[in-house]
Amino acid sequence: MSQSSGKNHVAVLAFPFGCHPWPLLNLASKLASAAPDVRFSFLNTAKSNQKLSATSGAHLPHNLKSYDVVDGVPEGHVLTPGNPLEEVELFLEAAPESFRKGMDMVVAETGQQKITCILNDAFLVFGCDLAADMHVKWVPLYVPAPYDLSAHIYSALLHETYAKACGGGEAHGNGGAVGDLNPIDKTLDAIPGLSVMRFGDLPPEILQGNHSNSSSIFARTLRGISDVLPRANAVVMNSFQELNSTILTDDLKSKFQDILYVGFLTLIVPTPPLPPSHSDATGCLPWLDEQKLTSVAYISFGTVAAVPPHEFAALAEALEASCVPFLWSLRENFKAFLPNGFLERTRKQGKIVPWAPQAHVLSHKAVGVYITHCGYNSVFESIVGEVPMICRPILGDNKMNGRMVEDVWEIGVRVEGGVFTKKGMVKSLELVLGHDDQHRRRMKEKIRDLKELVVKAAGPDGIDKDKAQTVTTKIQNN
Ligand code: UDP
Repeated sequence: MSQSSGKNHVAVLAFPFGCHPWPLLNLASKLASAAPDVRFSFLNTAKSNQKLSATSGAHLPHNLKSYDVVDGVPEGHVLTPGNPLEEVELFLEAAPESFRKGMDMVVAETGQQKITCILNDAFLVFGCDLAADMHVKWVPLYVPAPYDLSAHIYSALLHETYAKACGGGEAHGNGGAVGDLNPIDKTLDAIPGLSVMRFGDLPPEILQGNHSNSSSIFARTLRGISDVLPRANAVVMNSFQELNSTILTDDLKSKFQDILYVGFLTLIVPTPPLPPSHSDATGCLPWLDEQKLTSVAYISFGTVAAVPPHEFAALAEALEASCVPFLWSLRENFKAFLPNGFLERTRKQGKIVPWAPQAHVLSHKAVGVYITHCGYNSVFESIVGEVPMICRPILGDNKMNGRMVEDVWEIGVRVEGGVFTKKGMVKSLELVLGHDDQHRRRMKEKIRDLKELVVKAAGPDGIDKDKAQTVTTKIQNN
């Protein structure tokens, strides 16, 4: 790599789980292109760095380089299958020290070019203290939606209100009915901009509060967000301000020193024409080329979420019964949950891959519906592709996103009863792909309006260069 000669050196610290590393690397790439004299060092675990380079294939600017840091898993330790949180906890336990050592290594490698700013995933709340100890700027990126950030900022109030609604005691997952409305169904009227959400839509760690699950570092980390983000020089949002209500954005603005909306960092806008996909190793796009217009159901639950085994089976049965062509991004270990003989019987009807170039898939004209867990990035990729959704929220912010999709934006339907059943899914597929033209037409109109907003907000070059420039002024010392 050619060396950057400027004095500013930004250490970019990744949270190496779920979708989180992609938006951060994309942001770092855009900033590095906008500020060619600034050096960017992207620190991430080896496993996550490998996945990033295998799936994005993007060419990094000359002044951005990736480095591996240790993952916190002790040598010889075997991770428990089916417990993804274990890896997260081991990583977080070791992370402040791993990143400190990683930054020392980078500074040594670059001929003592000191770090001048830490840009990190906002889930790494210790970035605040690291930056303070090093007397450098601190700029976190918040990857989930602004309404999810708001829920975390008000987590203490939400927990307290919910506990009271449950009868004064400690809040529990499903709440107890008081009066005629179950607390889980009550709207969040006390929080600016969140009145459309219900307690039941909140990420579970918010309802659990400070007392339950306190041994989980991940839960404690998320609860730290409200304490540390107000200390950041600026908080960068993976969103466009234009897509959120004024009441929500004004309130968030009042909480932080500065808040910068850079747009969706995994989106490919404008479309069409699409830039070539770097990662279609499994041939999804040529397969889609052979399918009829808006006929295909695309299925993916993102990078971590999974439904219980019987729901995988019910979904498969519904796909088979409805004869809808399908493209399913399904991690290898879940194939065992499919009904006997399903793979052979549906060989002509569908295609199952371990990873799909999703943003490209959702922008392909053959895709007619997206069966989704309502991950935040996935929802907006679907909007840009003008694909209505069948929602089966699973974890984290999924239910809040699902609420927006069905009730606010009206661009999708939640699966009947909240879980996959053969009968419910056949019905949902019929509703979104079938003959009820009016319902489908209305969803398509709404989704087109929303896409227009996104494309306009992104500007003529996709994610607006001005937005990247605004962030680069924040991360540089004058
Ligand atoms: N993704 C992909 N191919 C797949 C599955 C997922 O490219 O086969 C990408 C998807 O396009 C999205 C990200 O992984 O950008 C998932 O992020 P999201 O916020 O939707 O869900 P999470 O994984 O965080 O639950």
